[in-house]
Amino acid sequence: MFTDTHCHIYKEYYEDIDKLIEASNAKGIKKMINNGVDFKSNNEVLEIHKKYQNIYPALGFQPQNLETFEEKQLSQIEINAQKIVAIGEIGLDYYYEPYDKELQKKVFEKQMILAEKYNLPVIIHSRKATEDTIEIIKKYPSVKGVIHSFSGSLETANIYIKLGYKLGINGVLTFKNSNLYKVIEKIPIESILLETDSPYLTPEPHRGEKNNPSNIIFIAKKICEIKSVSLEELSKITEKNVNELFDI
Ligand SMILES: [Zn+2]
Repeated sequence: MFTDTHCHIYKEYYEDIDKLIEASNAKGIKKMINNGVDFKSNNEVLEIHKKYQNIYPALGFQPQNLETFEEKQLSQIEINAQKIVAIGEIGLDYYYEPYDKELQKKVFEKQMILAEKYNLPVIIHSRKATEDTIEIIKKYPSVKGVIHSFSGSLETANIYIKLGYKLGINGVLTFKNSNLYKVIEKIPIESILLETDSPYLTPEPHRGEKNNPSNIIFIAKKICEIKSVSLEELSKITEKNVNELFDI
């Protein structure tokens, strides 16, 4: 039994959400954290939770989705603060040019302030922005969270862990060109959260297909192989990690 701590279950990606959720539940994925990225998807995440209590809502304004962002939209998080399990996904992305670094940092920081105010964990996206991400999260030491889709160095992993953050590990770990296994070898399982980032980042052997939460098993198996633990043992520890961070 595993929780998918990071997915994007929206109509835009999945024709039949009911079928997707049923299939995931049947394969032992009983809980999922559904991450919004902008005003529209945040609303959808809330709607889906009304129908499926085990698809938990996280609301956030993601750095690659700021074209439609207006500051007043942040009230969407405040109004729903008691209903959501995290603020996410939020963060910084300096990968695709052009990007507005100052706007990204401002929106990220405003959401860190809300996390502090409402005592909510954060789900952080950080790509090519490690230094700025660390600088900002250091300003909010009472806020805890996860660095989603972590694929950095061991040194960076240790900085995040020291700051009290967990690392979200997904299908990237199974990619043949990934060196992430070297980091996994050295960090404790207590710092790992499993995620799929569905519909993206489908693990091997299904790379190239659309991802879904039940593919989490391929990521889990890879970690078991690296850490020489059983699936049961991994499930026990990672589920405990989930409950440490999220009220689900
Ligand atoms: Zn995501």
